[in-house]
Amino acid sequence: MKMVFLGPPGAGKGTIAALAKDYYGIPHISTGDLFRSNIKNETALGLQVKSILASGGLVPDSVTIEMVRNRIAEPDCEKGFILDGFPRTIPQADALAEMTGLDAVVDFQISTEAVVARLSGRRMCPSTGRIYHILFNPPKVEGKDDETGEDLIQRDDDKEEAIKHRLEVYTAQTEPLIKYYTDKGLIKGVDASVAPDKVFENLKKALA
Ligand code: ADP
Ligand code: ADP
Repeated sequence: MKMVFLGPPGAGKGTIAALAKDYYGIPHISTGDLFRSNIKNETALGLQVKSILASGGLVPDSVTIEMVRNRIAEPDCEKGFILDGFPRTIPQADALAEMTGLDAVVDFQISTEAVVARLSGRRMCPSTGRIYHILFNPPKVEGKDDETGEDLIQRDDDKEEAIKHRLEVYTAQTEPLIKYYTDKGLIKGVDASVAPDKVFENLKKALA
């Protein structure tokens, strides 16, 4: 199963991908996670993209496309993959179409108010990438990862100014992909406004 998770920042794509990757037995490829791990490890790519991520803008297409091309060429992607956060622009979608076919593009449907509430309360474990929410999915011990006990962080781009910018970028650059993939007959709409286990049920039904 080769699929793309499409939807605004904060729609719950990463949360549902963590469930779907085990269920479907395919890797979860988040371009945001790949960039953040490069930033953490201070690679050349990480240094190049650090300020872009902090501001909530998009990394240039050429850089992002090459990173994804290398990742999906790895052997674990032969049976399929979940692409989360890619493509985000029409040129990225065109480049992906040249690399591989797709079985489905899942559109996570949710209101702007709900994504703002989800993003502003999001916390994550910096080493594992595990995602929490201060109200909707709190850790067992406040501020600590459930498994490693590490301090959770708030991403720089989950602060108010960057959230606003990211939502504008989504509307201008990424939302047009819904029509792009509808025209190709690939779109599966999923109600993402409900609790995670319900969203996952909606996803399984949409893909069945
Ligand atoms: P969210 O799902 O909360 O929007 P991500 O973790 O997917 O956040 O992305 C974080 C940041 O990484 C984006 O704001 C952007 O700067 C960069 N990024 C991730 N994916 C892409 C992409 N496909 N094209 C360009 N930039 C990207
Ligand atoms: P995305 O990858 O689309 O940016 P995330 O999976 O990181 O979104 O989720 C954004 C925030 O919303 C996180 O804090 C997460 O815990 C929370 N969240 C995710 N799914 C739901 C849901 N169905 N209901 C309530 N909160 C959710």
